[in-house]
Amino acid sequence: MAKLTRQIDDAVLVAPGAKSQLRKRATVADDIFPDREAAEDATKENARAIDALQDALWAERRHSVLVILQGIDTSGKDGTVRGVFNRCGPLGVAVTAFGRPSDEELAHDFLWRVHMAAPKRGMIGVFNRSQYEDVLVVKVRGLAPPEVVEQRYDEINAFEKHLTDNGVCVLKFMLNISKDEQRERLQARLDDPKKNWKFNASDLEDRKLWDDYQRAYEIALDRCSTEHAPWRVVPADRKWQRNAIIAAVVRKELEDMAPVYPKPDWKPSDFQIT
Ligand code: ADP
Repeated sequence: MAKLTRQIDDAVLVAPGAKSQLRKRATVADDIFPDREAAEDATKENARAIDALQDALWAERRHSVLVILQGIDTSGKDGTVRGVFNRCGPLGVAVTAFGRPSDEELAHDFLWRVHMAAPKRGMIGVFNRSQYEDVLVVKVRGLAPPEVVEQRYDEINAFEKHLTDNGVCVLKFMLNISKDEQRERLQARLDDPKKNWKFNASDLEDRKLWDDYQRAYEIALDRCSTEHAPWRVVPADRKWQRNAIIAAVVRKELEDMAPVYPKPDWKPSDFQIT
C-alpha cells in the first residue's frame, strides 16, 4: 500500500514551487494500474476503508477532509464521487457542486460560498468544482478583470492555509483527460438516449477554448500547489484508473491523520442495562 501510494504520488503530485507542465502529463495510468479488475477491487477495498476511517473521524471530531475535484467538462467529477465515496454512510460525506454563482453569491467575495460549504469536523466534504472556477472559467471567459483574477491565486492559497491550520486536510485532484477522450464522451451524450440529458451545447463552446482552459489550469496548478494543499493531476481517460488512484490517495491521507475513537471517562462495567 505504502509503495503504491508513493508510486502514485511520484506520478501525480505537482511539487510545490515547481512547474506543473500539464501538457506533458499522462491521461492514462497503465504503469500504475495495468489491470482493470485488480484496480476495481482495490477501489472497492479502499472505499470501504475510507468509510471506516470516516467513522473514527466523526467520533473524534477534531479534523475534517476536503476533497476538491476539478476538471474540464466530461472529465468525470460526478463519476469520481460515485466511484470513490459510494461505500461511505450518507451522514459522513457532504458533496457540494458549484455552478454559475447566484446573484446572492456574486454580491459576496468569491470565497464566501466556498467557505460556507467547507466540511465541519468529522466530515468528508467533496467539492464538484470549487474556488478554482474563479481562476478558470472566469479567466478564460473574461468574467472578471485580469487584475482581480491575478490576486485570487494568493487569496486561494491563504484561504486553504487557513483551512489546514484549522484542522481541514485539503486534497485537490485535477482530472486530466485528453481532447480525444472528451470528444468520445461528448459524442456518447449525443448517441446514448440515457445520456442525452447531460448534453449541453455550451460544452461545445468550452471545447473550442480547450487550449485556453489548459493554460488556465496550468497557471492554477503552478501557483496553487502548496506544501499545505498540493495539487494532484490524475490521469482520467480510464475511469477505473482514475477512481483507483483517488481512492488510494484519500485512504492514505486519512490513515496518516490516524483518527482515534475517544476513550470514555467511565467504565462500561459501571453500567448495567436492565
Ligand atoms: P457540470 O458541468 O459540473 O456537470 P453544470 O452544468 O451545472 O455542472 O455546470 C456548472 C457551470 O458553472 C460550469 O460551466 C462552470 O464553469 C460554471 N461555473 C462554476 N463556477 C463558476 C464561477 N465562479 N463563475 C462562473 N461560472 C462558474
